Amino acid sequence: MTRLPDPRPRPPAGAALVDTYGRVAQDLRVSVTDRCSFRCTYCMPAEGLPWIPRAEMLTDDELLRLVAVFVSAGVTQVRLTGGEPLLRRSIVDLVAGIGELRPRPSIAMTTNGAGLARVAAGLKAAGLDRVNVSLDTIDTEQFRTLTRRDRLTDVIEGLAAAADAGLTPVKVNAVAMRGVNDDAVIDLLSWCLERGYELRFIEQMPLDAQHGWERSVMVTADEIRARLATRFTLSPAPWGDRGSAPAQRFLVDGGPATVGIIASVSAPFCSACDRVRLTADGQVRNCLFSERETDLRGPLRDGASDDDLLALIRGEMWRKGPAHGIGRPDFHQPDRPMSAIGG
Ligand code: SAM
Ligand code: SF4
Repeated sequence: MTRLPDPRPRPPAGAALVDTYGRVAQDLRVSVTDRCSFRCTYCMPAEGLPWIPRAEMLTDDELLRLVAVFVSAGVTQVRLTGGEPLLRRSIVDLVAGIGELRPRPSIAMTTNGAGLARVAAGLKAAGLDRVNVSLDTIDTEQFRTLTRRDRLTDVIEGLAAAADAGLTPVKVNAVAMRGVNDDAVIDLLSWCLERGYELRFIEQMPLDAQHGWERSVMVTADEIRARLATRFTLSPAPWGDRGSAPAQRFLVDGGPATVGIIASVSAPFCSACDRVRLTADGQVRNCLFSERETDLRGPLRDGASDDDLLALIRGEMWRKGPAHGIGRPDFHQPDRPMSAIGG
């Protein structure tokens, strides 16, 4: 039987992870677990979620093999996230394993910080370069309401341990929620400035497991900036972040300290996106908001070669859309919540 040629365009030959809009993925976000010790209201329900069954999770060897394939395709930064990455018992070994890859990617982590005091020095010794700790408020009551956990002290100790270990500059990620912690953004910035932590606010996105996000309730980047401007003088930082970095950075009171504001919904940065994501169960995703993903775990366990895996990854990137489309009538929130994709 004669086979008709496949009319769909294919990624061009070569190793780089390009898409049809000319973007090249270099920043790999790896979710090492979907489990979490917190229950942030903008992320997951109080009772937690049906976690990925253990047998479906990538083993350390599988995860390291896939990261190596991504690195062979031009990935230069690996960020370990989750869920809560520190809940993975082998996290220090994973960092060390990624640190052995050549060319060695930079290694970063996003964590809720609650377990960081115990392990910050070990992570640094294993090769972790940077850490982002999520902290939305330094008010004990607000923290408890937001995370549904009473662990503010642990997070504060985790941040201090990260700084002591040399995981610098220590960055703090914050989400402001209307009527919950939006009145505390000034205190949070003052607190971070006093300790030399680099604070960045991120607009709340429709990625919660409960699908409860509403645009009208989201605190916008402009609102955060206006609120901060009542106490601080913010001037645009004279240097830019790297092209794909989403934070608009401002000098605070003339600098050198800065604050970042990430308008991921109101002014998306999709046209400069260089990210690709690997979930804890071995699915590659070209976007946080992607409605589909490509399975790598099955082929990997069935004996796929590195070239086979790379072809699957390149195919997934080739399907990447131009933008997330939040606000468009045809926008659908993805089934996978942020905690299972890796933020
Ligand atoms: N558990 C770790 C933590 O909280 O840092 C890592 C995973 S968490 C999903 C990664 C980041 O996503 C955190 O900074 C968190 O605040 C952010 N995040 C979670 N849900 C979000 C949402 N709906 N909109 C915006 N950011 C969100
Ligand atoms: Fe856990 Fe991070 Fe989600 Fe909070 S934002 S529930 S710490 S995964």
